Amino acid sequence: MKLLSPIGYFILPYRCLTSKSPRVRFAPSPTGYLHLGGLRTALYNKLFAKSHKGSLILRIEDTDQTRKVGGSVDALVHDLQWAGIQCDEGPGIGGKHGPYIQSERLEIYQKYISKLLDNGTAYRCFCTERRLNLLRRDAMRTHSIPKYDNRCRNLSFGEVKEKLKAGTPNCIRFKLTSDCQYFEDLIFGGIAYDVSLNEGDPVLMKSDGFPTYHFANVVDDYLMGISHVLRGVEWQISTTKHLLIYKAFGWKPPKFGHLPLIVNADGTKLSKRQSDVKVEDYRRKGVYPLALVNYITLSGGGFDHVPGAGIRLKSMEELAEEFQLQKISSHPSRLNPELLDECNKLEIRRRLRDEKESRALVATLQQLVKCSYPEQKLNVSSDHVRAVLEWATTRISRLEELVSDKYGFLWILPSNTDKAEINKELLEQLIPVLESLSNYDQIHIKQYLREFCTKNNVKFPIVMKMLRSVLSGLAEGPGVAEMMQLLGKQQSLLRIKTYIK
Ligand code: GLU
Repeated sequence: MKLLSPIGYFILPYRCLTSKSPRVRFAPSPTGYLHLGGLRTALYNKLFAKSHKGSLILRIEDTDQTRKVGGSVDALVHDLQWAGIQCDEGPGIGGKHGPYIQSERLEIYQKYISKLLDNGTAYRCFCTERRLNLLRRDAMRTHSIPKYDNRCRNLSFGEVKEKLKAGTPNCIRFKLTSDCQYFEDLIFGGIAYDVSLNEGDPVLMKSDGFPTYHFANVVDDYLMGISHVLRGVEWQISTTKHLLIYKAFGWKPPKFGHLPLIVNADGTKLSKRQSDVKVEDYRRKGVYPLALVNYITLSGGGFDHVPGAGIRLKSMEELAEEFQLQKISSHPSRLNPELLDECNKLEIRRRLRDEKESRALVATLQQLVKCSYPEQKLNVSSDHVRAVLEWATTRISRLEELVSDKYGFLWILPSNTDKAEINKELLEQLIPVLESLSNYDQIHIKQYLREFCTKNNVKFPIVMKMLRSVLSGLAEGPGVAEMMQLLGKQQSLLRIKTYIK
């Protein structure tokens, strides 16, 4: 089935939004974790609501009980809160249009399905699973599109009554009409599609009394007063079907905008195996919420792009202020992981400038260091940790990097110093020089080391190489004087003294 066939698809200019405060919703199914695509949908709904002084509603679409995963609603709510996406109505928040969990709205759906049965736009279907399977198999054999043949549409009133009396299990189907539905997608432009060409009458209510996604989604969007539906493009194919259901009720549909696919930098699909899908994974990897949110907007569009302007981390308020739905492109959004690193780097810098947040940052790093080097004697004083953080802002994009091999020397005595490089005598002579230094900053340290080399007639690069090895155990890395300033006088001396015992 193809929606974007040449005859079915055409572009129309973007239409202005209505002036009433919009109501939008994020309607995830609790089938697991919140992934990047879901977060993008929630975020853009939030930005849209916030920029138009509207409301964001969280609705849990759990009508497919077989796909429900325990604990996923809590995890979802937690992820949204972590990302700074506050909902105005929803489970656990309240609101005038609840309940906000579809499995708690079954009576409502019963009431509304009766309306469609009464006005003749829906009908009971008594076909067995066996018959439906046969139809499917037949279609496969003849290479035709598998679809329900709408047989029960033609049952007489008496036949239906009899089957109901006999207790025959049944579902309720929607009578698809063959009129081509048209809508103006706020992102993709004009879309027109005749659902009945490729589908048989769809089920609205299953035999167990649970509605299907399509039915519950339309009823709830209407009853919850949703003015704009912003959702992933994978749902675009369903929208014309939804429009037919709105029509059957005589309801005015909301406006629809479909967000393009999110893909990897090379255009390939995001895969669950790549661990770049779950929001939780990003959190675990030390990505900050504001960084993730900015990262999504950088690839997702919706903002004026100034060519050549560097990345600026924007607060949720700024993002909402600058957000423009019509600036979202219909092309797939390509992720660029380098931008995520850049955003996280900027967020670490931002946090460091804030008194309270910088204290939390210091505490997190202290904890990380203690966990990473449990057996070692460490200098994790707040001053040292803060100095390291200040120094590291141009070098790292995640705190975890500071406990990697590359930066381990900041916390522990190096174990892999190249003993061949050590000249004990020289080191011994250096100690009083360093001890006497009153200005222990890199400029003075460098100056004194130069003077020391001249006085002792040794080559400056050789001394630096040896000191680098003694201080960090690394062959390359930050400048020696820079390292010494960072470690502080006491720690630098401690390392040097280790080798002259
Ligand atoms: N429940 C659907 C999902 O899991 C939501 C589709 C919609 O937003 O209409 O993504």
